[in-house]
Amino acid sequence: MFQKILIANRGEIALRIIRACKELGIKTVAVYSEADEQSLHVQLADGAICIGPAPSVDSYLKTDRIISAAEIADVDAIHPGYGFLAENPEFAEQCEGCNIAFIGPKSDTIRMMGDKAVGRETVRKARVPVIPGSDGPVENDKEALKVAKKIGFPVIIKAVAGGGGRGMRLAHNAMTFAREFASASNEAEKAFGNGSVYVEKYIEDPRHIEFQILADRFGKTIHLGERDCSVQRRHQKLIEEAPSPFLSNDLRKRMGRAAVRAATACNYENAGTVEFLVDKKGDFYFIEMNTRIQVEHGVTEEVTGIDLINEQIRLAAGEKLDMEQKEVKFIRHAVECRVCAEDPARNFTPSPGEISLYYPPGGHGVRVDSHVYGGYTIPQYYDSMMSKVITFGRTRELALDRMYRALSEYLIRGVKTTIPFSMAVIRDPVFRQGAATTSYVEEFINRTPKNLFSNSNQEGQE
Ligand code: ADP
Repeated sequence: MFQKILIANRGEIALRIIRACKELGIKTVAVYSEADEQSLHVQLADGAICIGPAPSVDSYLKTDRIISAAEIADVDAIHPGYGFLAENPEFAEQCEGCNIAFIGPKSDTIRMMGDKAVGRETVRKARVPVIPGSDGPVENDKEALKVAKKIGFPVIIKAVAGGGGRGMRLAHNAMTFAREFASASNEAEKAFGNGSVYVEKYIEDPRHIEFQILADRFGKTIHLGERDCSVQRRHQKLIEEAPSPFLSNDLRKRMGRAAVRAATACNYENAGTVEFLVDKKGDFYFIEMNTRIQVEHGVTEEVTGIDLINEQIRLAAGEKLDMEQKEVKFIRHAVECRVCAEDPARNFTPSPGEISLYYPPGGHGVRVDSHVYGGYTIPQYYDSMMSKVITFGRTRELALDRMYRALSEYLIRGVKTTIPFSMAVIRDPVFRQGAATTSYVEEFINRTPKNLFSNSNQEGQE
């Protein structure tokens, strides 16, 4: 087992990893930017190394500085968390080259699944259904238009290097196609330094359902069930839950088997997520595989009782997966709301700043994963997510009632948060019925008075 791990990340996920390491008796080394000196992950780790100025390109994305920090601290392994370098195959390769274990899959697997067009082709060969579309990336808008006409509008144009909902455009007809194509490609070039795109049929009102995978290096792969992440704004997840209110046991079994086939097809090792869209008829299609821990992993942990970070560390250290598929039990319902420092009443504009008062919720069935505290200043440089509230209970109803109660207790002053928005969703009959698709949030925002999302509207908030 590893003696010391460097955590190449910040925020709540850095804390989550430190906690798992402590429980395993492993020493931890945090890295931090100049803006994060006061962050809890720096305080809770056994050691901390400053890796540069606030902007992430000068710190959390600087592979050479992180590798140097790992060598100075003499660690055995690096946990990349999510975002930043988590899906960067060159970084994983550098770790492999320096004899530092990268806690994740092999660099070849990250590279393969990091190109969505290659990933799509790889799983298709393993009999995993994919959405009809182009065979790999398209050369130009003319070639892409031919594909679009063949599969039929509407289509979605997607960056092969895509992530975080960027580099993706919907085209309804041939007239607007060239414009949307250029827009997707330009955005992808800016965001990922790679403007290559492919075309896929647009699925109307799908559900986003993903499967958690665990795999060891000895060829054993299992899944830990699904998470329904259909509640999204601009392709970014806001609320995740498991089990999905939409899946029958039969569909769950078929999707679970397909997810395992997808992971096996790319020689997957460690924890990963296979993402699918499910249409109204219950037909499902692979969209991508995320080769890292996900933000919403806690939902699966609370539903199965399995600590995913602990599993990741043990698998990366070369241990065998010590459970069989049939031993994985879904013991309850869990739901997660991402709490962001944003003002939902003003089109979710970021609201960084100092938290003047902070009182997180508690009680039975409530878990809060967060790196913030009263007096902490949320820097403007990074993602606006400040906390994740996960609630769980014997039934979906109970987990949701508990979420509403927990959010109503959550006191955060000094910055605006998305809490009132999440509370309004949790109370909304459409969501309550389990009927939300990926179009839900937009439809919900359109029919709901904005003042309902205002921070002054929440009990106990300013
Ligand atoms: P990213 O890697 O940027 O997150 P994904 O491929 O995972 O991109 O897709 C993100 C979201 O975009 C999906 O959850 C879904 O809401 C929407 N989406 C992606 N592809 C399609 C499609 N073919 N039809 C309809 N919606 C799609």
